[in-house]
Amino acid sequence: MKIMADRIAHLGTEKAFKLADNLRECAALGIGVVKLNLGEPDFDTSPIICEEGIKQIADGATHYCAPAGLMTFRKAAAKYISETRNISVDWEKVIVTSGAKPPIGFAVMAYANPGDEVIYPSPGYPIYESWITYVGAKPVPLPLTDRNDFRFNADELEKLITPKTKLIFICSPSNPTGGVLTREDLESIADVIKRKCPNNVRVYSDEIYEHIVFDGVKHCSIASIEGMLEKTIIVSGHSKGFAMTGWRLGYAILPTIEEAEVFKNLNINTIACVAPFVQEAGRIAYENPLVALEVKKMVQAFEKRRNFAVPALNDIDGIRCAMPRGAFYLFPNIEGACKNLGILDAYSQLPERDQTSPSTLFQMFALYKHGVATMDRKSFGEIGAENEHYIRLSIATDLETIKEGIKRIKNASEDREGFKKFIAEGKHFY
Ligand code: PLP
Repeated sequence: MKIMADRIAHLGTEKAFKLADNLRECAALGIGVVKLNLGEPDFDTSPIICEEGIKQIADGATHYCAPAGLMTFRKAAAKYISETRNISVDWEKVIVTSGAKPPIGFAVMAYANPGDEVIYPSPGYPIYESWITYVGAKPVPLPLTDRNDFRFNADELEKLITPKTKLIFICSPSNPTGGVLTREDLESIADVIKRKCPNNVRVYSDEIYEHIVFDGVKHCSIASIEGMLEKTIIVSGHSKGFAMTGWRLGYAILPTIEEAEVFKNLNINTIACVAPFVQEAGRIAYENPLVALEVKKMVQAFEKRRNFAVPALNDIDGIRCAMPRGAFYLFPNIEGACKNLGILDAYSQLPERDQTSPSTLFQMFALYKHGVATMDRKSFGEIGAENEHYIRLSIATDLETIKEGIKRIKNASEDREGFKKFIAEGKHFY
């Protein structure tokens, strides 16, 4: 008899956490690593927010609180979302969660039966695919490519919608691509959804990177488009925009009070509630205009780094990098570099290929032999990732580090002999 229940084998993971083991091994081996793998701002939480959190703890906001969230925070979030999306959100439909991650699992559990189809972007945040396979729903990846800046159009979505479609994930600005859907994109996507999907289909709009947009672009939510608010679960939070990853503060806005009750009950069954002092500090992030100025400065820093990094990557033979419009990631296509290094051939000759891919081999070679940490394509959805050769680089680190990291990527992509040796050593293939 197995110790673990069968279902647990279907739960995926976020490989960003596995990479931490590789980084520890590199440190033990004395390899100095430049980290371009990080999925969180390199900025600290604003002191204004921290001071409020500390004050709240001192004032005793340290007990259990309402599982749906504090009314003060839910009202602040509803006001903020209403004003920024030009919609009218009822605060009672806001459910506060510990980060923007729990609502992903909540939504898949709450809406998808085994066999139902769930559409999600690929490459995309890996937790979507993880939960879909876990509950026995059918994963339907929506392929994104750098050829159109990782956006997708209504036709591409329409082909994937069937009578079994139950939930559609969209994520803009996107992790890992930095792609941003424009209002026009969203309008045509919304048209298809309204035309093809019955009223019991939900759109999950992951807007956790909403604050981080470049080139004067304004974030647009699909919920702002007529007829979509009543079909859309809007999810956002404070991790990325307010540099509050460790505080664990996010929320979902459900289309109906009944659906909000289900999410509340999922909170009751898991975390009970988000710490009240965290919520009060998060409220200040919305209410104090000085915080907005700090966010603006952070976004400007990301934009400056992007403006340096994208042309620098495009100067490398075999690498092609689209210009991200948001988030703090670059997602260069490395197919040419894989060919130049002989990675595609080496990969095809490996006896065990399940756990790896050409971009994984590039990632590991760059890490162990050239001291630069990136993420492979497979980290962002396994299904449909074959023959896709990309890596993700994070620009949530200072410019000097980015410069050094790109130099190392260039060295790695020219080091054919080094790659042969790496393969001959027979380790660190995933
Ligand atoms: N959604 C996307 C697209 C993300 O990239 C992340 C974190 O990396 C999350 C959700 C989860 O965010 P949080 O840390 O607030 O749980």
